[in-house]
Formats: sequence, structure tokens, C-alpha cells
Amino acid sequence: MKKNLYIVRCGEVALKGMNKPHFERVLLQRVKKALEIYEETEAMWVEGLMFVRVPASVPEDEVIERCVRVFGVASVSPAVQAPKDINEIGRMAADFMQDVIKADDIKTFKVKAKRADKNFPIQSPEIARQVGGMVLKECKVLAVDVHRPDCTLNVDVRREAAYIYRDKVKGFGGLPLGTNGKGFILMSGGIDSPVAAFMMAKRGMSIEAVHFHSYPYTSQRAQEKVEDLVKVLAGYMGSVKMHVINLLPIQEEIVKNCPEDETTLLVRRFMMRIAEKIAEKNGGMMLITGEDLGQVASQTAEALVVTDNVVSMPVMRPLIAMDKVDIMDKAREIGTYDISIQPYEDCCTVFLPKHPVTKPKLAKIEKSESKLDVDELVKAAVESEEIITIEP
Ligand code: ATP
Ligand code: MG
Repeated sequence: MKKNLYIVRCGEVALKGMNKPHFERVLLQRVKKALEIYEETEAMWVEGLMFVRVPASVPEDEVIERCVRVFGVASVSPAVQAPKDINEIGRMAADFMQDVIKADDIKTFKVKAKRADKNFPIQSPEIARQVGGMVLKECKVLAVDVHRPDCTLNVDVRREAAYIYRDKVKGFGGLPLGTNGKGFILMSGGIDSPVAAFMMAKRGMSIEAVHFHSYPYTSQRAQEKVEDLVKVLAGYMGSVKMHVINLLPIQEEIVKNCPEDETTLLVRRFMMRIAEKIAEKNGGMMLITGEDLGQVASQTAEALVVTDNVVSMPVMRPLIAMDKVDIMDKAREIGTYDISIQPYEDCCTVFLPKHPVTKPKLAKIEKSESKLDVDELVKAAVESEEIITIEP
């Protein structure tokens, strides 16, 4: 079966010291998994680069799209392998450029050569010159432009072979999923939490989601929206487990017994407690939220202190110092934005106080909460959880 070759470059994994083999192994597994739908796909590391071979019948864009979604991948390029002979390299480079001309409107090019194998008898500038000459002879429509070429043709001469490729398609970088513990994202249907989950997963953290609803005040469709968001995330992470909890019994208790302006904050404290219990039960080490300093009343510095106070697990807030417009850009980039802006209610918007406290005092909040049987409410909520596994 004829196969096409792709070069996959890792970013930070390359900087790892003693642990590098571990990171490389996991990254290789992740790339193989991303491409497992294709028969007879091969992937291997050769001296710091990953080489992937996929049946030639699979469209190039599709392979690239799958590879760049793997966290830890810095860039990907379709490539061809040539024997380490300057004439062969030149001939194959010319063939390669013929295909490029057919696919794209390209008038100018330059050759960039790199000689990692110092035993190869020709130095890089001379490789570039000779290969450029051979390409020009075969591709009459092309001219050389070393300053602003339409296309850069790369020639890397390595120990095992030479490689010819053009553009690198950038990946998200980061670290391979599963190399940095497990975190539980408190997942709403909003713009922020999916981005927060993405950012932590990009640093190698495995993710499970916890979602609270207030059915029947919130609709079934509102929950489906959250499932749709998790599905987008699963496209990067593989299947994601989502723990779903009805918060309504707790919200009703709060509304009945506590000051109205504290409702949101008290609800948030319960969310944190419940999420921590679920995380503890399932091997989680951290909680993650999409909170952003000062964005709304429950995200002022004072409110965050009061929210954090009920859990001992570290709470990661990867968006804390970002502006909303930047979070929105990120959401567009990862493909969650259009789903997030669909107008469905969230459990936080049910029983929303008219004037929520923005500078809560811990002692006062604790006093309000003392009217509730916190442990029992949390226990009942945790026991009522429904678990859904969402596939990419
Ligand atoms: P988002 O866009 O993520 O909904 P937001 O700006 O609407 O954020 P809040 O509604 O105050 O902010 O929620 C802050 C954070 O609390 C969210 O990012 C999320 O981590 C968590 N959260 C909010 N609602 C829920 C929910 N229904 N289930 C689980 N977590 C939630
Ligand atoms: Mg929200």
C-alpha cells in the first residue's frame, strides 16, 4: 500500500531532560490514537522527529487536522523521503514542486537546506543552490526569490535519509494528554469553562467534567448544549466523562433560608464542595473553573476567596488574568464559541439575585450557611450524580 509521509515536531517535549522518553512515548501513543481510524498507519520517533506514514488515499488536510489536535504537537508537514544523494534529492525536489504548482498558484520559491548529518559531503548553502537549480530546470514557471518566496522548499539531510517538505502547519503545542494528573472542570454552557478545560488539557492534564443543572427550571436542551461543548473538547482529548448533578434541591434550600444577595455565592460554594467530592472519588487532583478576575460579582477577588474557602483541593483558574475578548478569540479558535453563545439558561441564572454581593465577608457567609445542613445536602447531591461518557 502506498503511503504518504508526515513529519511531526514536538514543542516542549523536546526540552525535557530525563523524562523525555516518557513524554515521547505518550505523545507517540496519542498521535497513533488520533490516526487509528486509518488502516496500517505507522508512527515512530527517529532522532527527535516523529515520522508518520498514512495510506496515500487519505487526504492530506485530514491527516494534518488530526495531528495538530494532539496536544504536544508543535507542527506537522507532509514530506517525502529521499536517498542521501544530491542528484536524487534534486530530482525528487523537482517532482515535489511539480505537485505543489498543480495544487497552488505559486510563482516564486527558495530552497532552505539543513545538514544535520555533517558527514554529508555538501554544505547547506551548496545543497540549497544545487537543488534550487534542478527545480528551476524542471519547473519552468518558477523563479527564485530568496526574500519573499511564495513557497519555501525545505531540504533536511539527516543521518538516516534526506527529507523534502514545504510549510509547517502549526499545532497547539503544550504537553501530551495524560502526563499531568487529572483535573475536574466545572463546566457550564458558557464561553469560559470550555476554554479553561482546553487550556489545562493542553498542559497534559486529563479532564473529567462536572455539570450542574436545575431541571426543570433549566431545560433538557440546556444540558445538551453542554454535552455538545464537551464533544468539541473530546475532539482534542478523546472521550470525556461528565458527571451531571441536579442542584435544584440545594438552590431551593438556599433561597428559603439565606439572604437573597448571597444566593449566587452560596450556590458556588456548594458547587465547589460537590465537585471536590466527585474529584476525590475519581482520582482527581485539582478543580478547574472558567472564572476570570472581576468578570461578574461572583468573580471579584473577595468572592473568589470566599468560594475557595470550602475546598482543600487546589482550584485552577487558567483564565484568571485574561480579558473577555481574548477568551472569546480562544473559544473561536478551538471551536466552542458558536455553541456557547446559544441562548440557553444556566443553573446560575436561576434564582439570580438583583444585587449580588461583590465584597462578601467570609464570616457573614458562613453564618448564613449555618442555617443549612451542608454535609447532608452535599452528600445527597453527590449520590444523585448521573455519569455520561461523551465521545469525540
Ligand atoms: P462561563 O462562560 O464558563 O459560563 P461565566 O462567565 O458565565 O462563565 P459564571 O456563571 O459565574 O461565569 O461561572 C463561573 C464558573 O463557574 C464557570 O466558568 C464554571 O467553571 C462554573 N460554573 C458555572 N455554572 C456552572 C454549571 N452549571 N455547572 C458547572 N460549573 C458551572
Ligand atoms: Mg456561566
